[in-house]
Amino acid sequence: MTDPSAAWTLVRSLVRQQQPPGDLPVLEVHSVHGEETAMAGLVAWFDRHNEDTAVLLRVDDKDLGIVDQDAVLDAVDPTYYRGGLDAGDGLTLPGLPTDFRLFEYVCPIDGHRRKGVVGFDAGPTPTCPVHGVAMVPDAAR
Ligand SMILES: [Zn+2]
Repeated sequence: MTDPSAAWTLVRSLVRQQQPPGDLPVLEVHSVHGEETAMAGLVAWFDRHNEDTAVLLRVDDKDLGIVDQDAVLDAVDPTYYRGGLDAGDGLTLPGLPTDFRLFEYVCPIDGHRRKGVVGFDAGPTPTCPVHGVAMVPDAAR
């Protein structure tokens, strides 16, 4: 079976291969939703979390690698950011898909891990890789 994300030349060009530090936020995307949705998810994450310099990008439950905020900003049209993505309906990305949602979770034990899932419905609740407990929706989001 072919991995659809193998053809994601833009997203893959942004990925740095290195061992991720354990505290990096994780962004989970699904290859079935396509590269543009994955890209839009990255943009949406860094728009909400300007303080994050990088995320660990996972595709179909497998680590793809680290993606830096700077690389994402360089790759997309700067007009995407005009007025902020959270103006209006929350996710307005001319040229990129807007019909997905970004589900955010945190570890309930000390909030040490954060995870975003890009998709169209919530799907299974992620588990904290350290504590082995179900993560909870990020109440702040
Ligand atoms: Zn935990």
